[in-house]
Amino acid sequence: MPRYSLSILLVLLLFVLAPAQQKSVPQAAVDRRVEDLLKQMTLEEKVGQMTQVTIQVISKGEGGGAEPHAIDPAKLETAVLKYKVGSILNVANSAYSVDHWHEIINAIQDAASRTRLKIPVLYGIDAVHGANYTLDATLFPQPVAMAATWNPELVRKEGEITALQIRASGIPWNFYPVMDLGRQPLWSRLWEGFGEDPYLAAEMGKAYIQGHQGADYGAKDKAATCLKHYVGYSFPWNGKDRTPAYIDDRSMHQLFLPPFEAGVRAGAPTVMVNSGEVNGIPGHANHDLLTEILKNKWGLEGFVVSDWEDIKRLHTRDMVADSPKEAVRMAVMAGLDMSMVPYDFSFYDLLLECARDKSVPMARIDDAVRRILRVKFRLGLFENPRPDASLKARFNDPEFDKANLQAAREAITLLKNDDGVLPLARGKKILVTGPTANLLSVLNGGWTITWQGDREDLYPADKPTILRAIEAAAGKDNVTYLPGTTFDQAVDITGVAAAASKSDVVIACLGEKAYCETPGNINDLTLDAAQLNLVRELAKTGKPIVTVLAEGRPRVIRDIVPLSSAILMAYLPGLEGGRAVADILFGDVNPSGRLPFTYPRYPNALVTYDHKYTQRLSDNVFNPQFEFGYGIGYTTFEYSGLKLSRDTITAAQDLQVTVNVKNTGRVAGKEVVQLYVSDLYRSITPPVRELKRFRKIDLRPGESKPVSFTLKTADLAFVGLNNQWVTEPGKFRVSAGGLSAEFTLR
Ligand code: BGC
Repeated sequence: MPRYSLSILLVLLLFVLAPAQQKSVPQAAVDRRVEDLLKQMTLEEKVGQMTQVTIQVISKGEGGGAEPHAIDPAKLETAVLKYKVGSILNVANSAYSVDHWHEIINAIQDAASRTRLKIPVLYGIDAVHGANYTLDATLFPQPVAMAATWNPELVRKEGEITALQIRASGIPWNFYPVMDLGRQPLWSRLWEGFGEDPYLAAEMGKAYIQGHQGADYGAKDKAATCLKHYVGYSFPWNGKDRTPAYIDDRSMHQLFLPPFEAGVRAGAPTVMVNSGEVNGIPGHANHDLLTEILKNKWGLEGFVVSDWEDIKRLHTRDMVADSPKEAVRMAVMAGLDMSMVPYDFSFYDLLLECARDKSVPMARIDDAVRRILRVKFRLGLFENPRPDASLKARFNDPEFDKANLQAAREAITLLKNDDGVLPLARGKKILVTGPTANLLSVLNGGWTITWQGDREDLYPADKPTILRAIEAAAGKDNVTYLPGTTFDQAVDITGVAAAASKSDVVIACLGEKAYCETPGNINDLTLDAAQLNLVRELAKTGKPIVTVLAEGRPRVIRDIVPLSSAILMAYLPGLEGGRAVADILFGDVNPSGRLPFTYPRYPNALVTYDHKYTQRLSDNVFNPQFEFGYGIGYTTFEYSGLKLSRDTITAAQDLQVTVNVKNTGRVAGKEVVQLYVSDLYRSITPPVRELKRFRKIDLRPGESKPVSFTLKTADLAFVGLNNQWVTEPGKFRVSAGGLSAEFTLR
């Protein structure tokens, strides 16, 4: 085919494809509607738009907590008609049925339709691992486990299903994804994010946003995302939630900001602010981060929402504002557009005062309201503020459970398997023990039906725990269950040891109970002594022990690693997690998860994989329990022929990296090909290596595949001496699967 006809074809193809990439309503049209509405609004209406309250404020009962939940029409009237609130969030106690959500949203939008300008209310929810506040929703592995799949396609699918299920509930706005990097393993919210690496986190976050929003988040089965918690929240110095982080500028730009930037560029229209502080500046008072970087530099189109009560806390907790009014002024001037107040209307009253005495200029208020209205228009709320009843029929698609099961199967990570103890042959006598064996809450964690996720009685009865799934796979007669210990107290160690002696294999299910946010704070990363002791006692019987970990963060298990023949990291694998664990134990599934964080060996030797050379020199041995990216399966892979397209590149040239991967074992398996780059010398001490690309591939026994990646010079950039991104000429090493090769950037 002649050259020119190929280019004509390409141009035509672009025309055909282009509309799919574009938002349905052009920006100019949205802006016109926003300006038109803004002109008609009173100051009170504007300030109302910037106010968000929790559902308790409009619900019956003392503190809005009546059970069963019901909207209180008088309170609703106060919120929407008197205070003109622009947004409402949350559940009062626990998840609601789709039908009850419809009642709630309809009542709220009814009230909104009785306001002067009929501006719809934007309802927001935390749908962190699926629509966790709607009954019967598909509850996926928690984010850190989704990251362990190293399969963005599964995360995209999760985004798609979550958006559909919250929209089917009538809710168009999700406070997710969490783009906080999990680089402080003590932190109780580590499991809400995609692990320690900025590239992996950004890729997963983008995939989620694409699935959740599609090309147009106003489509009836799509919904808006909210990146959180911008930024540095995940790195509290002492590991406790909402306590100070100290992050130098270079690390901020190199590590913590990029996943958020990727999320904004992928189209997330809203951002929630870090509830803590970085370098002494509370997230909610940080003008540079909120206005200069997020809005001016990255061009966030939508708005910035505070976290729970956090504007008030500038006065009550952080002591940077000497009055509640000063707190409001400070936050709004820093760049906050909406306040999650959330229990009262104080923000409304105080911002009105600020506007009247001009300590907050009208231009700032208009900017905030424009941003909020833009998202409401884009969501199609002005046309369709109410739940779309037709989506209800799509809520329980059996395909969703399959996608969820697949995610759990690909997340769970095999960390040790001596003498091929796994997979277990059927027909063996199995003792199942430990505190996470027979609970669903431990597989799901926080943000499950309730905030803390610990109401076991509210979990769906048809989903199996690990124990029930093992019984189903092995036959009930082959399985004995004794708890052995609670999380922190021995129950009957002698009994459990005696039962172990009569079994062929012991499955010890350990880990953490469900928790969320500050209630999940711990003082010691080491797993509870009672659980470690259980394994020590069981080991005395000489029976092989398979340790299964259901935990949201890597609790130190050093002492029991040598006592366990196999170790299976289940993370918080979601509602299909019990089944997925059993599938892997019995070899129906070949595990393919890989750690998205470094699993520490000692509580006081916390080092990430992308550490500096000084952190592995002389006495500073880098010796984690398990490395980032690690995970084994029931087959083996061999890497060969790592090749670079050139030895030397210029800044304008790409570099192709190719490596062959072969399945050398006897079962089919998935391998995560991980490509790392090391900058051999740079003006800032380089990290030992950095993840730059990855791909999950599927190989039949004996099959081999070439895997190619393209690196750009931008992938070699770092934040240099003057805190700007730079690339420096010199030598680099590329490595994958134990092979490496060097090239030079001219
Ligand atoms: C959490 C946020 C959450 C918000 C609303 C806060 O306590 O930090 O992650 O989105 O509550 O539920």
